Amino acid sequence: MATKKTTHRSVAIVGAGMAGASAAAALHHAGHKVTLFEKSRGPSGRMSTRRTDDWQADHGAQYFTAKSAAFQAEVEVWCQKGWAAPWQGRIAKLDVSNASSLGAEGPSTEASRFEPTPPTPRFVGTPRMTSIVAAMVAPLTLNTQTTINNAQRVNDQWQLHSKEHGKLQETFDTLIWAIPRPQLAPFEASFPSQWQQVLNSIEFAACWAAMAGFEEPVNLPFDGLFVGRPDDGPAASPLSWAARTLSKPGRTGQETWTLHASYGFTQKHLNDTPEAMAERLSQAFQALGAPAPAWAIAHRWLYALAESTQPPSANHLWDEETQLGVCGDWLTSGRVEGAWQSGSQLASKLLYSPK
Ligand SMILES: Cc1cc2nc3c(=O)[nH]c(=O)nc-3n(C[C@H](O)[C@H](O)[C@H](O)COP(=O)(O)OP(=O)(O)OC[C@H]3O[C@@H](n4cnc5c(N)ncnc54)[C@H](O)[C@@H]3O)c2cc1C
Repeated sequence: MATKKTTHRSVAIVGAGMAGASAAAALHHAGHKVTLFEKSRGPSGRMSTRRTDDWQADHGAQYFTAKSAAFQAEVEVWCQKGWAAPWQGRIAKLDVSNASSLGAEGPSTEASRFEPTPPTPRFVGTPRMTSIVAAMVAPLTLNTQTTINNAQRVNDQWQLHSKEHGKLQETFDTLIWAIPRPQLAPFEASFPSQWQQVLNSIEFAACWAAMAGFEEPVNLPFDGLFVGRPDDGPAASPLSWAARTLSKPGRTGQETWTLHASYGFTQKHLNDTPEAMAERLSQAFQALGAPAPAWAIAHRWLYALAESTQPPSANHLWDEETQLGVCGDWLTSGRVEGAWQSGSQLASKLLYSPK
């Protein structure tokens, strides 16, 4: 039986989203020396919030669910600490299979067009989506604005280079990549060949996200709306999702809504300007009965949602010989819960590593 390792190792984790943060927190808790590297200005990755002094909007992950017992227990702790809370918004779905439901006969907020979804416990970070990962990594060493662009194994140590700082002084016993699959491509040559099949089975979809601000509260019969099957037929809506920021716990400021484009619409308009996309998604929201926004901006997530063409055999990758690991949502469900599971289970593997 494997025994838990008692010698403490230095571990570099590249990527401070939920997967990197969950691996980091577990390893730190077990006494290892963890250093996180993140290319953005702050942690959290796709669990992100755009904000100014006047408004805020979660424009990546909208909420998360907790299906496994282990994640349910973790979310309960986050809620007790005030990092997360249930979102009790009115969540509805709109079937756009016939044109009239999309406002072809004029915008309408008629509640009957919007079907309530079955009650499901949904959670959000509080006071914003970034809060959970920010709190998880707060006790750790986090180097932001540090894009790792090279990693080499020299004398049983990982030597890292970053775009901003060149060769880093410190070396590490162990390296964990916690970044989306497409961003791993430059480093793949040094990976064990048996990882290739899993790596080749992953595809990422892009997503345009708009944030729209309103002078007055927008009175619609839902706080979150799934726009069903939007990619086909003449009734296709650009939208797949709309959510009201102020319906989520802890949010303050101006009335804002996040509008996500459908997969098909994003593919078709991948290289359009953010201004054009903000306009198109705002128009689609107006077709659901919303007023014209006072302003709207758009962000393109090039790597938004992961899909695997075959179920991966494990939710992380680990190479004992070179002390190299990979975690991320894309190795499992492509969701927040999957990212957490992937990172925490990779950390467990490392804790029982014989080296
Ligand atoms: C539009 C959208 C809607 C979503 N909706 C939901 C939802 O409703 N519910 C849900 O559960 N999930 C949702 N998701 C998915 C969810 O956000 C992800 O599953 C989860 O956040 C992924 O976490 P991660 O740590 O695996 O990756 P990420 O969050 O992508 O973290 C990776 C981090 O690595 C950093 N990085 C990348 N390359 C480098 C490098 N070379 N050097 C240093 N740092 C690097 C990135 O900046 C990023 O911070 C959504 C995602 C998007 C984009």
